[in-house]
Amino acid sequence: MTDHLAGGEAAGNDPRSLELAERLAAVRRRISAAAEAAGRRDRLPSLIVVTKFHPAADIRRLAALGVTDVGENRDQEAAAKAEELVDCGLTWHFVGQLQTKKAKSVVRYASAVHSVDRPQLVAALAKAARDEMDATGRAPLDCFIQVSLEDDAGAHRGGAAPADVPGLAEGIAAEGSLRLAGIMAVAPLGLPPAPAFEKLAGISSRLVAGHPGATAISAGMSQDLEAAVMFGATHLRIGSDILGSRPAVG
Ligand SMILES: *Cc1c(COP(=O)(O)O)cnc(C)c1O
Repeated sequence: MTDHLAGGEAAGNDPRSLELAERLAAVRRRISAAAEAAGRRDRLPSLIVVTKFHPAADIRRLAALGVTDVGENRDQEAAAKAEELVDCGLTWHFVGQLQTKKAKSVVRYASAVHSVDRPQLVAALAKAARDEMDATGRAPLDCFIQVSLEDDAGAHRGGAAPADVPGLAEGIAAEGSLRLAGIMAVAPLGLPPAPAFEKLAGISSRLVAGHPGATAISAGMSQDLEAAVMFGATHLRIGSDILGSRPAVG
C-alpha cells in the first residue's frame, strides 16, 4: 500500500489521507441513505470522484482508500495526472466541455466521456477511438450524451437540447469504436434539482426504448446527489464534498 504514495506517507496515516477518508465515508453514507430512501438499496449508483484542480497525490490517496473511478474536466490536466498515476489502475471519466481537437488525447486515457453534445464531437471521438483501438487494443469509448436541462438550451452549462438526443444516440450507436452508455446532465443553476432530474429520467426512458443498452444516467454532484439518486442516477460525479473546495486556479 505504501508504495501508492510519494514521500513515504502511508495510506491512511498522513493527515490529508485521514481527512479524505472521513469525507469519502460521509459521502458514501449519504449515497446509502439516499438509495434507501429511493427504495434502491440493491442498486447503488457508481461513485466518480471529480478530482479537477486537486493534485495527483490526492488521487493516489483516494485510490488507496478504494476509489476506482475519477473524473476530470480539462484534457491537459487529466492527461498529465493519468500518466503519473498509471500504476493505480483507475478508470478515468472525462466530464468537461470538450473541443474536437482534444479527442485524440482524451481517448488515450479516458474510458468514458460524459459530455458528448454534438455530431462533430461524435465524429472526432469515433475516429480517435478507432485509431487508438487499432494501436493499443483499447475497449470502445463509453459515451454519455450531455443534455441541457436549462430552458434556454445550453445557456450556462453546456449540453444538447433534449430534442437532439435521438440523433446523437443514432450517431454514437453507428460507431463500432463508441459505446452508447446513456445520458448525463448538470442541474440548472439556481433552480431546485429534483424537477430537472425528473425530466432527465423521462429523457432516459425514451432513449432506452430505442437503445436498450443505454441505461446509464450520470447526474448528481455534491449539492444535489440525493435528488439525483431519487430519480435514477447510475453514476454520481462528486468533487468538493470529498476533496474540499477547489484550490484557486492559476
Ligand atoms: C466539477 C464537476 C463536478 C463535481 O462538482 P462538485 O460540486 O464539486 O461535487 C461534477 N460534474 C461536472 C461536470 C463538473 O465539472
